[in-house]
Amino acid sequence: MTDLYVLYRGPLASCNYDCPYCPFAKRVDPPGVLRADRAALERFTGWVEATTDRRLSVLFTPWGEGLTRSWYRDAIVRLSHLPHVARVAIQTNLAARTGWLAAANPGVAALWTTYHPGEVTRERFLARCRELDRLGIRYSVGVVGLPGHYDEAVALRSALPSTVYLWVNAADGHVYTTEEERRWTALDPRFGDSVRPHPSLGLPCHAGETAISVLGDGTVRRCHFIQEPIGNLYDGTWRAALRPRPCTNALCDCHIGYVHLKPLHLRDVYTEGLLERIPAMWPLP
Ligand code: SF4
Ligand code: SF4
Repeated sequence: MTDLYVLYRGPLASCNYDCPYCPFAKRVDPPGVLRADRAALERFTGWVEATTDRRLSVLFTPWGEGLTRSWYRDAIVRLSHLPHVARVAIQTNLAARTGWLAAANPGVAALWTTYHPGEVTRERFLARCRELDRLGIRYSVGVVGLPGHYDEAVALRSALPSTVYLWVNAADGHVYTTEEERRWTALDPRFGDSVRPHPSLGLPCHAGETAISVLGDGTVRRCHFIQEPIGNLYDGTWRAALRPRPCTNALCDCHIGYVHLKPLHLRDVYTEGLLERIPAMWPLP
């Protein structure tokens, strides 16, 4: 069965945290937006259930925080039990309780978690990680590589089990000195993938062939970074749209994009952990 990686982003843009580097900090969605987000997610979940001729891997990439909303939790549990769904994961700040994951299939559900120093104590974040360990749920942990986060990132790395992969995202607009790059790479051996944007214009990319980005209304784009629609999920036009395509952007600088850039071969690095960002060879030998 052909693999299809699906990144889904509905209207939700609210978040319980107040990160200074984020446009969605402490944003509140009006009730109408929340209702629309819930309805859109339910429609999407129905599409996943019905699309049994693909091996689907789904990553929820909300602008804000999804796991404080019951409909994201319910969707993850529901999709994790479908035989044609290989993975269902979500990007989360891990603020919400995790007990609901006991109802999910731990072989399929996974989390991409991010630690935001200043919004939560390290101890509290680590307590959530221990809950995930007890539940047997796969997760990665990340930090934004701002200079002010470095000490916290070191402490987090040493407190996490060695089996948990900690990634570091290069901070937007920050140019890293050689020494800074060395220090962050000592924490995350794959920091080099993130530290500089990847020139991508004209290069072959899986996005639009075996990976798609989906909006709440079903608009299908190649990836979150090229706005031009290539079809819609709910009228079936996505099927005819999928084909090999070169990238039309100059640069690709976000992990959820460049993992699909063919010359980087990052699908070989992450294999089954592509969406939740866990390299296949982790921990390193
Ligand atoms: S937790 Fe994520 S979405 Fe929320 S404010 Fe911080 S960076 Fe933004
Ligand atoms: S390289 Fe990045 S921007 Fe270009 S098509 Fe792939 S995911 Fe999209």
